[in-house]
Amino acid sequence: MAGLEGRPVFVLDQVHGSAIALDRDAAGGGIEADGWIVGGRSGIFGVFIADCLPLFLWPRSGAAAGVFHVGWRGAEAGMPEKAVAAMRERLGVKPSELCAAIGPHIGACCYVVGKDVAARFHPGSAIQREGKTFFSLSRDVARRLVESGVGEADIEEGGGCTFCREDLYYSRRREAAGHMLAFVGIT
Ligand SMILES: [Zn+2]
Repeated sequence: MAGLEGRPVFVLDQVHGSAIALDRDAAGGGIEADGWIVGGRSGIFGVFIADCLPLFLWPRSGAAAGVFHVGWRGAEAGMPEKAVAAMRERLGVKPSELCAAIGPHIGACCYVVGKDVAARFHPGSAIQREGKTFFSLSRDVARRLVESGVGEADIEEGGGCTFCREDLYYSRRREAAGHMLAFVGIT
């Protein structure tokens, strides 16, 4: 949290949707959204994550950032595409100028979904194994980012699987309690 000590923390009423809040609208609470666009207001802007995917976007130059909570419902609602569009509309950042990072979330190693869920996504996001369907949320999100104009080489993924790595992370599916805060802030 270098440079952010003592700053106010703003969170959202997350609804697994695709609404995005602006830093200047941040208040004590009551904003129903699953992402933040931060263009310069001081503070820590966070989304809670536990198995869902934290997506970070920022321009290669300039002080701005976005953080977004993306589960399969958010992906289906087009959150990655809307996040890229919001960075352009609200901050004037072109998709080709964006860097993206995908943080820890439940990985394709552990994420079993029903065939009905898998059928709503690109076939490349589903992996058949041992008679089950495993879903790669990161593959789906990355594909949506690339289709929105973000360079494939500008998308990084790190942190691993929240379900396997109980030494590191909370997992909603594993223990049904606990969250992690993924946040951005401009210093
Ligand atoms: Zn795993």
